[in-house]
Amino acid sequence: MIIKKAQRIQELPPYLFAEIDKKKNALKARGADIISLGIGDPDLPTPPHVIERLCRAAGAPANHRYPDYEGLPAFRRAAAEWYRSRFAVELDPEREVVSLIGSKEGIAHLPIAFVDPGDVVLCPDPGYPVYAVGTGFCGGVVYRMPLRGENHFLPDLNAIPEAVAKRAKLMWLCYPNNPTSAVAGAEFFRSAIAFAQRHDVIVCHDAAYSEIYYDGERPISFLEVEGAREVGIEFHSLSKTYNMTGWRIGFAVGNADLVAGLGTVKTNVDSGVFQAVQEAGIAALGGDQSCVESCRQIYQRRRDLVMKALGRAGLRAHPPKATFYVWVQTPRGYSSADFATKVLEETAVVITPGTGFGPNGEGYVRLSLTVADERLAEAVERIQGLRL
Ligand SMILES: *Cc1c(COP(=O)(O)O)cnc(C)c1O
Repeated sequence: MIIKKAQRIQELPPYLFAEIDKKKNALKARGADIISLGIGDPDLPTPPHVIERLCRAAGAPANHRYPDYEGLPAFRRAAAEWYRSRFAVELDPEREVVSLIGSKEGIAHLPIAFVDPGDVVLCPDPGYPVYAVGTGFCGGVVYRMPLRGENHFLPDLNAIPEAVAKRAKLMWLCYPNNPTSAVAGAEFFRSAIAFAQRHDVIVCHDAAYSEIYYDGERPISFLEVEGAREVGIEFHSLSKTYNMTGWRIGFAVGNADLVAGLGTVKTNVDSGVFQAVQEAGIAALGGDQSCVESCRQIYQRRRDLVMKALGRAGLRAHPPKATFYVWVQTPRGYSSADFATKVLEETAVVITPGTGFGPNGEGYVRLSLTVADERLAEAVERIQGLRL
């Protein structure tokens, strides 16, 4: 029998890092000391009080059964209370909060509830690939909104053709932004809300990096802006904030109908987050937040180290105000892929070509700060020695 993959799988974009992976493995086989700045996964450990809470909760028989689909009422209350203290946004934990098995899960599932075949979904380019993949999985049509340096990596909503806006059902935004590290302010969010109201477009804001910020400048929540709750939903994750990428816990908040739609998909495809992990999430959200500040200080130190080294190497990048990524312009004459390959071959440092996040990532590479200080110092030293 011939096993043929479904169209939606066949249509997935080709794996852009295949060539780099091949070269990386060849270098490794030759004994090269490879340092990867390619992945956005915190190297720092989960705070001890969160781990202790998991250990205790894991022993309780009540937690061994199927969890509540929408999340423990106490977890949803903890998320709402965290939003109140962090953003001064009031949420109804019953109607406006849903737990997620990591925010990626919710981001991938939300379009199933709202996007019909042929509907346009506006996706940032460069952007987190899940926005486009989730769209394609339910027959939606991706319209790429370019994020350009001259616009501070915010999409130009006025540049979206009227015919596209008319067919648009949903718009993804992500600030602080992966991969460009840009932040958005109230003014941009207001324009997104106005666009949404004018064209009946749902706004989905991915706020995975809201707590990874520098120089004391705290990013705002989309939901802080007037009118946001009428049009939008915000995705949050404990992964980056509390170094919990492996735990799989996040949540979405905002418009009650959007939360309910996502909840309907989830009740039909999964059975929620292990309750012991939710209890640990409550400990993280409700506990002492100084652990988050310590991480910010570590990343900020690393950011400064990398920015200095890039400057010495003659490479240009905006110093990130948030996220643990640095979005670096490729030197004249190099494409993203060429430059990432050169860096790998000459320094054994893995970096991500900007085109891995969409065609408009051309001309950039992404460096991640989630590597132990000594290794990061070693990596930037090697990059500094590059002859460009
Ligand atoms: C890491 C990341 C997420 C997803 O994190 P989860 O671990 O699934 O909660 C979502 N969006 C962006 C932009 C990310 O970088």
